[in-house]
Amino acid sequence: MTARRSLITDQLAASCYFRTSVPTGQRKALVQITERCNLHCAHCFVSAGDYGDTMRTADITKLLIPRLRGCRVTRVTLTGGEPFAHPDIVEIAAVLRGHGFGVGICSNASIITDAQLAALHEIGEIHVNVSLDGFRAESHGRFRGNRASFHTTVETVRKLARARLLQGLLCTPNNLAEDAEYAELCAFAVDNGAEYVLMNPLSSMGRGVKALGGLGAAEERMQRIYDLTAPFDGDHLNVTHIRFPNTTKPLAPCEAGTIVYVFTAGELTICPYLVFAAKTPQSCHDPAEFIVGNVFTDPDIAERLDAYRFHERYRVGANLTCRSCSLDAACGKGCPAAVISAGERIGAVDAEVCPVTTAERRRLPVLLTSSGSSTVMPRPRTSRSSSKPTRRRSPPG
Ligand code: SF4
Ligand code: SF4
Repeated sequence: MTARRSLITDQLAASCYFRTSVPTGQRKALVQITERCNLHCAHCFVSAGDYGDTMRTADITKLLIPRLRGCRVTRVTLTGGEPFAHPDIVEIAAVLRGHGFGVGICSNASIITDAQLAALHEIGEIHVNVSLDGFRAESHGRFRGNRASFHTTVETVRKLARARLLQGLLCTPNNLAEDAEYAELCAFAVDNGAEYVLMNPLSSMGRGVKALGGLGAAEERMQRIYDLTAPFDGDHLNVTHIRFPNTTKPLAPCEAGTIVYVFTAGELTICPYLVFAAKTPQSCHDPAEFIVGNVFTDPDIAERLDAYRFHERYRVGANLTCRSCSLDAACGKGCPAAVISAGERIGAVDAEVCPVTTAERRRLPVLLTSSGSSTVMPRPRTSRSSSKPTRRRSPPG
């Protein structure tokens, strides 16, 4: 098993969308092996559906794998779309394992066949993470655009657990579910031996830009969900709350450049969330700023990646609020992708989770369009972006 490094600590608020990384000097890659998905989720960052391209298996084996090795990648997560919509997913997982990569698969667990389960079990040391956003057909199923999918997903999670393939459940709390469903979801994770439940809020990226106003859980609701699910965190289950309300802790640092992402067409980015955020209408950044090259057409992709150096190009937390903050030295300044999706430039405060700006924090204003759908307006420029310092606060005792 390849080594993992937890990004979650007791001292810092979990502000990065990722839960784990790899040891220093190595990289982890998420690979979008297909853009296609059988579902149509309200929050999908890549706006996937029953359309789009699929990576050619020959390109994966002949080009992607050797170039990822050149990039010092040790762990690969297959993603999509829905990775099980790729006809060769088992073969791809087997080849990656054969080259010594740690292999994970993120799935909606609604189209995995028994034969694929058996084959993945046979390969060994493959883990599957399943998205579950509520614990009813009326919540999870509706959120994912297919109510019946809930029953299939739950039954497939049980099968994955029996095949020792299940690793974690990925959950986006939303307004279609009752609060208690999130406790049921954690109990279900314990019953099926999942290692963790990872919860993060619906974000203004991809289809989430339009869904946020109607389906995003407000802060007080996220706090209630935290209170209901935190007691499940213990010896048998890790419950990780990403970007939940935070009033005390400084923020975690950004891992951009360590957890890379390869789009179906081969473009490699230093973090997928930077590209998803930069694609939103409120963004001040161009998605191309965060694309290093193409793994299929750039033989020097490893050199390009090493030369990119995100934290030398951009200074996260380069604002007067952070500079005058008593938590400055201990704070990693949070997630630049979240800053972009809030309509700010990198360098502004990650105000959604920064404890100092909590009092100022508001949901982005929602505007109803002429078609009746909701959209998010850019956050107006405030002192967080550049100008005035806010009052200094002492760190929590
Ligand atoms: S103001 Fe800046 S340094 Fe202080 S807690 Fe917030 S993000 Fe961290
Ligand atoms: S931009 Fe940085 S902090 Fe945000 S998700 Fe990517 S790696 Fe994590």
